[in-house]
Amino acid sequence: MLSFAFSEEQEAFRATLEDYARSTLAPAYRQRAASTTFPFDALAELGELGLLGIGMPKEYGGTGEEDPIMLGLATETLAYGDVNVAAAPVQVGLTGSQLALAGDEVRERYLPPLIEGWETVAIALTEPGSGSDAAALRTVASPVDGGWRLRGEKTAITWVMNASCVVVYAREPGTTGARGVSAYAVPMDAEGLTRSHLAGMGCLPLGWGTLHFDDVFVPATHRIGEQGTGFRSVMSHFDFSRAALGLLCLGAARASLDEALAYSQQRQAFGRPIADFQGISFLLAEQATYVEAARWMCYRALWLRASGQPHTAQASMSKWWPPVVAKNAIEAAIRVHGNLGYAVEFPLQQRYRDVFAYLIADGTAEIQKKIIAREAYRRGSIVW
Ligand SMILES: Cc1cc2nc3c(=O)[nH]c(=O)nc-3n(C[C@H](O)[C@H](O)[C@H](O)COP(=O)(O)OP(=O)(O)OC[C@H]3O[C@@H](n4cnc5c(N)ncnc54)[C@H](O)[C@@H]3O)c2cc1C
Repeated sequence: MLSFAFSEEQEAFRATLEDYARSTLAPAYRQRAASTTFPFDALAELGELGLLGIGMPKEYGGTGEEDPIMLGLATETLAYGDVNVAAAPVQVGLTGSQLALAGDEVRERYLPPLIEGWETVAIALTEPGSGSDAAALRTVASPVDGGWRLRGEKTAITWVMNASCVVVYAREPGTTGARGVSAYAVPMDAEGLTRSHLAGMGCLPLGWGTLHFDDVFVPATHRIGEQGTGFRSVMSHFDFSRAALGLLCLGAARASLDEALAYSQQRQAFGRPIADFQGISFLLAEQATYVEAARWMCYRALWLRASGQPHTAQASMSKWWPPVVAKNAIEAAIRVHGNLGYAVEFPLQQRYRDVFAYLIADGTAEIQKKIIAREAYRRGSIVW
């Protein structure tokens, strides 16, 4: 039998989060989103709800097993209330999955506060000279007595302004491509490490910024995983977390379309509610169709991962199309609201700017299409 139903446990989880997102997160979303202050109070609440431990080692407070569907449900449902706060389970899942590969010292120091939500860890791959072509990174880790010295620069890094540690990707001197790249856990107070804030068009509370490594000493205990495996390891996690980011964007889109649906029934023009005009109701019907299709595509990618099946192409589909669907849906909701949609006291324009980040972050649409095309040619079929 084919079933699109969530389990009872998943439904209960979703219902709890829906209540939290609508009653606690949504009312203060616009205020939080307009500030560069990191919402540590909300992060601690997510920690208490167990949302930051999905897939994290049990001994540090996590769930143990990876749970892609729960991760997707969490991001989609939270994003209905606050798309920036909703990014936390994905970000923690990504950084935590890498820290979990480190030795005891690093795991014990950083995983418990990350899972409880009172500290953050950033992940730094992108550099001024390499983004989409991430394996072309130039930051170098030179071996020295007792560890390494890091030299280089990272840019466009989420959470870097509030993090206590950063997972950094750097290469062995003289290497090229992905093979020479290892990951290092670097405390933010390490000597020679400086950070500066970058102003973006949205996602202000997420502490976006740059990092400069000026011969930063990293002890041998702080390398993550085997030498030269850093790049492959982070790509394997991106491989499914991308679908959770698609759902995050769709959660924000659903909130916007619900607002447009309600507004269109109240707002009168030409002696009747604007919902009576098919120019409005068909616009909403079209957006609802796209959101529905994109949503199930994301859950299918997560289900494939959860059931141990190949999912790379589906995760890439879920990363390039749903953010576009979400952006267009929010734009439609803005138009339904007329001048009010453009006004800063309404959350729509804020969601538009926050969601736009995911058209670029974690890999652009072009890079996702490159992956999908590669997989299609490899299989010799366009239908999965
Ligand atoms: C809000 C936000 C948060 C981010 N957070 C992080 C973070 O926490 N950590 C981190 O390491 N990075 C982060 N990034 C960086 C992000 O991963 C990169 O911006 C992204 O991978 C694109 O790289 P780039 O900006 O250098 O663009 P480029 O690689 O220079 O690309 C420029 C344009 O060329 C296109 N292009 C490139 N190659 C090809 C190709 N082969 N075929 C077709 N088109 C191509 C791209 O799609 C894009 O349209 C973040 C970015 C944003 C916007």
